Amino acid sequence: MRKLFTQLSLLTIFLLASCRGRGSVSTTKDIMDLVSPEPDPYQEIRLRMVESQIEARGISDPAVLTAMRTVPRHAFVPDDLIDDAYADSPLPIGYGQTISQPYIVALMTETLKIKPGQKVLEIGTGSGYQAAVLAEMDVDVYTIEIIPELASQAQDMLIRLGYANIHFLTGDGYFGWEEFAPFDRIIVTAAPDHLPQPLANQLAEGGRLVIPIGPVGFIQTLWLFEKLDGKLTATNLGGVRFVPLTGEH
Ligand code: SAM
Repeated sequence: MRKLFTQLSLLTIFLLASCRGRGSVSTTKDIMDLVSPEPDPYQEIRLRMVESQIEARGISDPAVLTAMRTVPRHAFVPDDLIDDAYADSPLPIGYGQTISQPYIVALMTETLKIKPGQKVLEIGTGSGYQAAVLAEMDVDVYTIEIIPELASQAQDMLIRLGYANIHFLTGDGYFGWEEFAPFDRIIVTAAPDHLPQPLANQLAEGGRLVIPIGPVGFIQTLWLFEKLDGKLTATNLGGVRFVPLTGEH
């Protein structure tokens, strides 16, 4: 019995230690949750989603696939849509906004070619799902949302899930986040009708920026911009449909 108790105590200490960087664990309930975590009822459907929607369409970066298998997408959708969380489509998240289709999240993330330790700027926090996928890849995420209610909901959820490597700003992402520039990677998840110059300026040398560009309410083009020797080259990645980048810029 004493041996079992000692083993449980050691397990608890180990679990607490392995939570470093993912928020702090303070209450007895938190500790009990760690010792006997609830099974995730959506894990199987999430693994199927990655296989049938993501890998089947050619996404192969192991870090992207692992992140998509890990992040509980159902935590980022409204309660009444939870059963559709892993469907092959975007979903409404309120305020006229959407959480992007899983495949588009994976495609944009893979296109960034993320390396651990990089600084990634996301414009359009929305539900927080894309930020969580990025945060799973051992980078520092800086995310900006223009709708205060969405910004605060997403921040609450990401903190509850224990992500300590995401920095939040409420405001117009058109102007980027000068204080923390330059960024190794930039991802824009709402569509402007041109490349915002501040984002181009805040992209680091050797950096990659993925952005949908096009007219409001129509099909836009997904572009990859790469900065080499201070110059940007653009690659057309095909047609997409995003909500518009709003704001007073
Ligand atoms: N990345 C989000 C996710 O994982 O749920 C999806 C984003 S949704 C397609 C686009 C988001 O961009 C919306 O939440 C919208 O409010 C936000 N947005 C639109 N214009 C913006 C701007 N100028 N600055 C920051 N966010 C903006």
